[in-house]
Amino acid sequence: MEVPTTFGGDDAAEMVTELRRNFLSGKTRSYEWRVAQLKNIVKFVEERETEIVDALRSDLNKPEFESVLFEISLLKSSCKVALKELKQWMKPEKVKTTLLAFPSSAEIVAEPLGVVLIISAWNYPILLSLDPVIGAIAAGNAVVLKPSEISPVTSSLLAKYVGQYLDSSAVRVVEGAVPETSALLEQKWDKIFYTGNAKVARVVMTAAAKYLTPVVLELGGKSPAVVDPDVNLKIAVRRIIAGKWGNNNGQACISPDYIVTTRDFAPKLVDTLKRELDRFYGKEPLQSPDLSRIVNSNHFDRLARLLDEDKVAGKIVYGGQRDKAHLKIAPTLLLDVPQDSQIMNEEIFGPLLPIIMVDKLEECYEIIMSRTKPLAAYLFTNRNNLKDQFVRTVSAGGLVINDSAIHLAVHGLPFGGVDESGMGSYHGKFSFDAFSHKKAVLYRSFLGDAPARYPPYTRGKMRL
Ligand code: NAD
Repeated sequence: MEVPTTFGGDDAAEMVTELRRNFLSGKTRSYEWRVAQLKNIVKFVEERETEIVDALRSDLNKPEFESVLFEISLLKSSCKVALKELKQWMKPEKVKTTLLAFPSSAEIVAEPLGVVLIISAWNYPILLSLDPVIGAIAAGNAVVLKPSEISPVTSSLLAKYVGQYLDSSAVRVVEGAVPETSALLEQKWDKIFYTGNAKVARVVMTAAAKYLTPVVLELGGKSPAVVDPDVNLKIAVRRIIAGKWGNNNGQACISPDYIVTTRDFAPKLVDTLKRELDRFYGKEPLQSPDLSRIVNSNHFDRLARLLDEDKVAGKIVYGGQRDKAHLKIAPTLLLDVPQDSQIMNEEIFGPLLPIIMVDKLEECYEIIMSRTKPLAAYLFTNRNNLKDQFVRTVSAGGLVINDSAIHLAVHGLPFGGVDESGMGSYHGKFSFDAFSHKKAVLYRSFLGDAPARYPPYTRGKMRL
């Protein structure tokens, strides 16, 4: 009988040693090497688009539209921004010096960290794997990517093609689940970039502490959408639907997790949501080709438990249909869900959307701030004073006024969490920075040496 080969501690140690040797050879530092790799990522997604779409369909029943728009196109535009800006990002940044160091000049030099580990999640398995790789490569590092085993077809597609398209002496993919990831985490890395849930993030951070390895943690949380009665309701509702169900059927870190609105306005909001959901996904949403399925039966059961909790059972005002055999759950609205229900106390990460009613909209702050800080928070309103108040009051990884989830596509904005939604950020230049060390360099000449700084110390010298 053939014994299956697994990736263990020795394999991980050997691989890191080899990558470190190749990193130290200096090959990953050159502008040309970085550009060649980035161009090959574009080439990979362009040449293999059909296979990528098929893999995502197989892992998640992800609609082609979402795969192309949110995984392939976003990745390509990330690469293109890096290719366009890289020379500028790599340039040392001149800074002013002080009188004490006169005469001198100073600059900040961005240098690669070394060999970095990227552990990614299953819900956007192409984008969340390769987008951080773009940052790592742009910054000149050697990199190991560990895609999620929960999206196995995409994971093996990445393993197959990263080796073909990128320089395998410096970029590797290791497939696997907890044992393989644990073997990787035992090694000394120069940075660990983790995307996933906060529980595993603690495992990652504990492993990183052994070598004082810096980490970026891209996590999740309960991202609220606050809807003011003074709003363009139809557009607001369409944008909530796009951010929630149009994002992997709610299985996205930045999809709206719950809505807060006023008691008086809630019936109108619910009616509009129902009407637009009917229009988008039809009367038989389980048959809609435009909704991803739930990724696996564990997550299906978890979502079913949230719906079946006694406190929640009578609160469904729309949807609720499910099909375990095909892992499908329809877009579901729940009205007036108690704050102490399970669904209001864990990240939903699926197609269920509770709506919380308050007497005054300002009560939303108490609801949002009584929880850990979310990855995103959304406000829909026409009122400028409310926009200002929301931006000043709500702490979250990112805020969007009058839309949801779309900030992810703006390269000039850092994407990352705060508190339990994560630490560190990436996208655009922030990705380059996440994988660089900003080295302080001060240049002095032998001119203008000031005797006053040397012993013997005297009172007179002290006052100079
Ligand atoms: P997951 O199950 O794919 O896990 C993420 C990674 O952690 C995988 O590569 C997995 O192999 C690894 N892992 C799991 N258990 C481990 C362990 N015990 N030790 C070491 N590694 C382990 O993904 P998930 O955690 O279910 O992802 C969903 C969560 O991720 C949600 O909370 C979501 O909000 C968050 N998320 C955040 C972002 C972001 O960009 N901020 C993006 C997507 C998902």
